[in-house]
Order: sequence, then C-alpha cells, then structure tokens
Amino acid sequence: MSGIFVNKCAVCGQLLREGEHLCYNCRRVLIPINGKICAKCGREKFFCVCGKAPIRFVSRTAAPFYYDGAARQAVVRLKFGGGYGALEFFADKMQQSFEAHLSDQEFDAICCVPSSARSLQQRGFNQSAQLAKRLSRRLNLPFMPRLLRRVLPASTQHTLPALHLRSGNVFGIFEADVRRVRGLRILLVDDVMTTGSTAGECAKMLRLRGASQVCVLTAALGK
Ligand SMILES: [Zn+2]
Ligand SMILES: [Zn+2]
Repeated sequence: MSGIFVNKCAVCGQLLREGEHLCYNCRRVLIPINGKICAKCGREKFFCVCGKAPIRFVSRTAAPFYYDGAARQAVVRLKFGGGYGALEFFADKMQQSFEAHLSDQEFDAICCVPSSARSLQQRGFNQSAQLAKRLSRRLNLPFMPRLLRRVLPASTQHTLPALHLRSGNVFGIFEADVRRVRGLRILLVDDVMTTGSTAGECAKMLRLRGASQVCVLTAALGK
C-alpha cells in the first residue's frame, strides 16, 4: 500500500499527519457506543433492539460506533475499497470494543461474512475479510475464512422479501462448513450489523451447523 493513503482522512480525504486515520472534524461526528451496553445486541440500553428484533443465534455483540454520521460514510468508503486508513482505524477501535465487552469470552476462530465472487470482482476486496485479518493479528486468534461461504450471489439477497430475511426464514444465502465449525466458539466479524443483516444470517448457519457459540464484532451497529 502506498503511504499516501495512510495519511488521508478515511472519510473526507483531507491530508493528515502520519499515523492518523480520521481528521478532527470527522472524528467529532462519529457516534461512539459508550458506557453500559446490552451484552446481547451491543447497543446502549436506550437503543437495545432485543425487545423488538431479537437476535437469535448470536450470544454477544460489540461494536465501537453506531452506523450513523461519519461512521456511516467511512463504512461506505470501506466497502468500495477507498479506505486503507479506515480499515486500520476501525480495526483499532474494534479491538478496543472487543477488550471492553468480549474479552471474558473464549474463542477458537475468527471468521467473516463472505462476499460473493461478483462483488469481489467488482470491488476487488472484501472489507469484512480485511477487518477480520487485522483483528486476527491483533487478538491473536486464527482467521478461518472458509468456515462460511456464500451459496447465492449477493444480488439475490436484495430481491428476497425483507420480511423473510428479518424473520430469519431464509436458508441458502450462506452455508457453513459442517466439518470445520462443529464445537467452535466463533468471533464473526463484519463491517456493519443492522437488524436482519447478513451477520445474523451467517451466525444462524454457523450455529445450525454445530458452532457452540457465535459472537459478533462489527465496526458499526444500526441504531
Ligand atoms: Zn475527515
Ligand atoms: Zn439488547
């Protein structure tokens, strides 16, 4: 990677001093998830979604930011490969969230939401895998990208009725490798988790194929 990317704000592109990833203005409008959180959904109590949209199959959730403000813009840039600095920034913050909220849990492996071959081709990389790799190094846990694979292209997902996705009735977008996941305690990494998101679908397949626990660590959570 060229050094020039390291020194640009991950959101607005402003030039920065070495080692910085977000400018002062963008940092100010990030909405951090602070203080006491609901361990299950990872939001502060006031924004807890467990009552209205129970997250089945996920034991615990943690994330440094809400998916809003500058975090939203930075995550969108991540998706389109525009933010090496943003990857480092979010990996650092996700590590802090892990240490604050998930470090009392034991994990055997890190995996990520797989992207479809087509979106990999279009965008050139999978931002979830990039975050997972960085966290694997930071947390000293093995990254096992093949635990999950996508069996239907991403485009299919958008044409499926949202209601079905939300109610968790959709099988077949992802599949988990039954020979590998059995008994594993898995940390599932993604960029964003919203209600009925792909992370929830992945967690479901991991559990159904025998993973003993799935916790989710994302860069941002929908409010
Ligand atoms: Zn900025
Ligand atoms: Zn909750």
